[in-house]
Amino acid sequence: MSRNLPVTLHDIYLARARIAGQAARTPLIRSHALSARFEAEVYLKLETLQPTGAFKLRGALNCIAALDSAQLERGVTTASTGNHGRAVAWAAARLGARAIICVSELVPRNKVAAIEALGAEARVIGRSQDDAFVEARRLVDEEGMALIEPFDDPLITAGQGTIGLELMEDLPELDQVLIGLSGGGLLGGIGRAVKGINPAVQVNGISMMAGAAMIESLAVGHPVAVEEQESLADSLGGGIGLENRVTFALVREVMDRHFQVSEPAIARAMVHFFEQEKMLVEGAAAIGVAALEEHRLDIRGQRVALIVSGNGIDADTFMRARDMAAD
Ligand SMILES: *Cc1c(COP(=O)(O)O)cnc(C)c1O
Repeated sequence: MSRNLPVTLHDIYLARARIAGQAARTPLIRSHALSARFEAEVYLKLETLQPTGAFKLRGALNCIAALDSAQLERGVTTASTGNHGRAVAWAAARLGARAIICVSELVPRNKVAAIEALGAEARVIGRSQDDAFVEARRLVDEEGMALIEPFDDPLITAGQGTIGLELMEDLPELDQVLIGLSGGGLLGGIGRAVKGINPAVQVNGISMMAGAAMIESLAVGHPVAVEEQESLADSLGGGIGLENRVTFALVREVMDRHFQVSEPAIARAMVHFFEQEKMLVEGAAAIGVAALEEHRLDIRGQRVALIVSGNGIDADTFMRARDMAAD
């Protein structure tokens, strides 16, 4: 049995102090279009404005900043569907550490190129997140690199939780938050932060239909492997780890409801961002809008925040979404 590692509100405050001035404190803006459509106050938390275009910089900075100088010298590695890899590459470059980022063949080419542009080596290996992770493990065992986990680490999760502190400062009367759910570092961290400040805030997790590892794991009561499938929300792919130590227990504790959304709903949500919000975001970042639409959530009169988690998308993927949304 793996031992569960807790993440406290205090850990999240410590993370905030550690990453201050490096990760952006992102704006929370009102969506006039969504507020009108749902007769609510709907806000967008713009993690797309991080230097790497996604929130994962928060966790990566918190984790790498905690390493000692000998570890920094041997370098860092990780397996990532893209945004975490970019975050580790960026944070490592900042802190003067070598980085090797292991990614699966399903990861879009633009994300691999972005990692290389940040000065890290991108190692493309295997058909799944798990295959890429095996290579990262080997680099740790044989070359002494430090493994920076994508989500299942107390420092990573606490780093992502700093989003929750900012939400509660900018919108103290927050009623609900909608969060894309994959490994659960994002949802677990934000959930711990917002509920630590106000336990009444409703925490909603959103995943795509196929390959939603956390939701399938919660359903059976322990972490299970799922088959990875292509999705417009490619950043939400991958397993949660059969030896999950942090996020499975944390998500089970802090998540009130979860929803799964279809690919056409994700496509329409991406087009919504483009046409109504004038923003280009990836599928995983648009998924809150997909849940509001597809599940016809009644949020009338409430203050609701959507985590716009990243903008790792290329033109071809957006065109595919636009065509799907038009059908
Ligand atoms: C990683 C990621 C998520 C999901 O975060 P987890 O901590 O794995 O649940 C959501 N959106 C984007 C853009 C991501 O990169």
